[in-house]
Amino acid sequence: MNIPESSLPRVVIIGGGFAGISMAKQLANKSIQVVLLDKHNYHTFQPLLYQVSTAGLEPDSIAYPLRKIIKKHKHSFFRLAEVTQIDATNNVVETNIGNLSYDYLVIATGTKTNYFGNSTIEANSMPMKKIPQALNIRSLILQNLEKATIASSEETRKALLNFVIVGGGPTGVELAGAIAELKKHIVPRDYPDLDAETMQIHLIESHSRVLPPMSEHASKKAKEFLNRLGVHVHCNTIVKDYNGNLVRTNSELQLHSKTFIWAAGVTGAPVHGLQADALMQRSNRYKVNHYNQVESYNNIFALGDIAAMSTDAYPNGHPQVAQPAIQQGMLLGKNIRCLINGKPLKPFKYKDKGSMATIGRNKAVVDLHRFKFAGFFAWFVWMFVHLMALVGFRNRVVVFFNWSYNYINFDKAARLIIRPFKKEG
Ligand SMILES: Cc1cc2nc3c(=O)[nH]c(=O)nc-3n(C[C@H](O)[C@H](O)[C@H](O)COP(=O)(O)OP(=O)(O)OC[C@H]3O[C@@H](n4cnc5c(N)ncnc54)[C@H](O)[C@@H]3O)c2cc1C
Repeated sequence: MNIPESSLPRVVIIGGGFAGISMAKQLANKSIQVVLLDKHNYHTFQPLLYQVSTAGLEPDSIAYPLRKIIKKHKHSFFRLAEVTQIDATNNVVETNIGNLSYDYLVIATGTKTNYFGNSTIEANSMPMKKIPQALNIRSLILQNLEKATIASSEETRKALLNFVIVGGGPTGVELAGAIAELKKHIVPRDYPDLDAETMQIHLIESHSRVLPPMSEHASKKAKEFLNRLGVHVHCNTIVKDYNGNLVRTNSELQLHSKTFIWAAGVTGAPVHGLQADALMQRSNRYKVNHYNQVESYNNIFALGDIAAMSTDAYPNGHPQVAQPAIQQGMLLGKNIRCLINGKPLKPFKYKDKGSMATIGRNKAVVDLHRFKFAGFFAWFVWMFVHLMALVGFRNRVVVFFNWSYNYINFDKAARLIIRPFKKEG
């Protein structure tokens, strides 16, 4: 891997997501050798993936080069590598580019899409966890609109114009809102030969309300906003199957659709090698103590989405959102230094900064502890928070410019089929 041997303790971090980079920043310029490994050479700002999927933003504006993040950090290295195995007995990680020994290992590999064991759905649906997947969705939406203009039968046209999103969490709600905005502002202008009204957006959620992790107020408002945008919301409905054409559910609802987006859940993305009882069976997350130390291991830690730290407030682990990942990364950066210097460690305490979701232009819902609000001000707060949270000044400027341009012109600049989407197999 061409990492120099040194007398400094070596911390290997697997994953350059929110948790991994927050920890790497804490260890910058300290007397510690840091090796950051990721299978991508960029950090992905997942909260805005849905805007890439719906042609609102170019992918580059939500990605940031990992090498650039650590370039000024003394003793820090990045390697583009997929970690395939952990050999905890010999303190070595095995990757597709070679093996590397560590003194301390930090696993921050996040999650992957959960299909709940349904292989037909896995084979036919569109997931949205990574930038290439978001680009696939963008291409598919635009290709299906193109195909709809030349469809030979009403039945085919209807299936091409039926957009089905499964999962009424923030991702599904935001995606449904953004596709509804496409229908309202872009389709009538770009596709005058299509009747925009035949385009239908369906959001399917198994719970009794959308945004189940948020307040009742947020759910009610979000549903109201979605209805106003013409989105069909189906709660208490479980998708049973999708064969590439027909969506079957546990109710009478059946939909013919060529665009089926799966945003129904995630499961941990652990690395092979640790003993089986280090993992929580249900969620595939590593069981960690209050210092993010993986159960039964002294020098292996897990952070963010992949870590399940059981507390009184969160018995099954913290919510799988950016803030716990960032806060755990920051604290572990400090704690590792304490550990190396023989000082006592500080236990993790999560500071919940609230949650929010946007549902198209001028509309969002925000839960800030006792304060719950919705509408234009919430949308403004949502934009500000997301803009500030983006990694990189250039990205903030580009996104701000795009949003302003889109807002003034009711436009979405990136509706391009650069790489046509074709389902494999
Ligand atoms: C579509 C979507 C929308 C979201 N919206 C919001 C939101 O609005 N607000 C919010 O707070 N949270 C949101 N989240 C959740 C949030 O993005 C996650 O909680 C957060 O990214 C977790 O950070 P992490 O560092 O644990 O993992 P991640 O950010 O997922 O990073 C994991 C990293 O590990 C790398 N990796 C994985 N396995 C390996 C391996 N074997 N070898 C090498 N590298 C590996 C990956 O490439 C990735 O870079 C959203 C998530 C998604 C998918």
